[in-house]
Amino acid sequence: MNSSTNYIQISGLSKSYRQGEENIPVLEDLNLVIPGNELVTLMGPSGSGKSTLLNILSAIESADSGQISVFGEELIGKTEDQLTLYRRTTIGIVFQFFHLLPYLSATDNVALPLFLNGMSKKRAKKEAESVLDLVGLGNRLKFSPKELSGGEKQRVAIARAIVHKPKLVLADEPTGNLDSKSSLQIMELFHKCVKDLGLSLFMVTHNPEMGKMGNTQIEMLDGKTKIR
Ligand code: ADP
Ligand code: MG
Repeated sequence: MNSSTNYIQISGLSKSYRQGEENIPVLEDLNLVIPGNELVTLMGPSGSGKSTLLNILSAIESADSGQISVFGEELIGKTEDQLTLYRRTTIGIVFQFFHLLPYLSATDNVALPLFLNGMSKKRAKKEAESVLDLVGLGNRLKFSPKELSGGEKQRVAIARAIVHKPKLVLADEPTGNLDSKSSLQIMELFHKCVKDLGLSLFMVTHNPEMGKMGNTQIEMLDGKTKIR
C-alpha cells in the first residue's frame, strides 16, 4: 500500500459554529497526519474541539473549509449518497454512551447494520456471533443491553462498529462512562483489533491514562494539535 492511502491527511481544516450573531471558531486551519494501522489517541481539555474533529471525520458534521483524505478517499466534496456509503463501509463509530438498541439482544444489535446493508438475517447473525466472540462476549450473545455491564455494552458497541470490516474506527470518549478496569479492557481490545484485524483506530479521550496508551498520541489545544 502506498503512503498516500495509508493515512488520514487533514489540511487547512476550519470549522466554526454560529451562536446568534457570533461566529465561534472551533478548528482553525488544522493540519494533521494520522498514521494508519495503529491506535492513535487525541487528548485535550473539554471544549477544545475533539468531538468536532471526530464528527467531521465521521461525516456527521461538515467542515467549513479544508481537505480531508481518509485512505486516499477525499471526504470534502462528496455527495450525501457518497457520504452515506463512506459511513457504512469505510468507517465504524463508537460512542461514549454505547447507543445500543435496548430491546435487541447483543447478537441482533451487532447484526442490524449488516442486515440493513442487505445481508440475509441468518448470515448477519452468524457474522455478529463471530465478532462478539472476538470481543470476548461469546457467552453473552442473547443478553440484552440491560443485562450487560458498562464494559460489556461497550464491547457490543465495538463489535457493531467492526462487524462490516471498516478500515477505520472512530471512537469519541469510549471509556468516558466506564470504571478504570473496564476502561483498560477496552484499550486492550482496541490494541487487539489493530494487531489481529489490521484496523486503524482513532480515539478521543480527555483521560491522560487512556491517552498514554496510544501508539501515537496527539494533543489538542484551542483547535491546534501537537503530536508526541
Ligand atoms: P470537546 O469534544 O473537545 O469537548 P467539542 O468539539 O464538543 O469539544 O466543542 C468545541 C467547541 O465548540 C465548544 O466550545 C462547544 O461549545 C462548541 N460547539 C460544539 N458543538 C456546537 C454546536 N452544535 N453549536 C454551537 N457550538 C458548538
Ligand atoms: Mg467531546
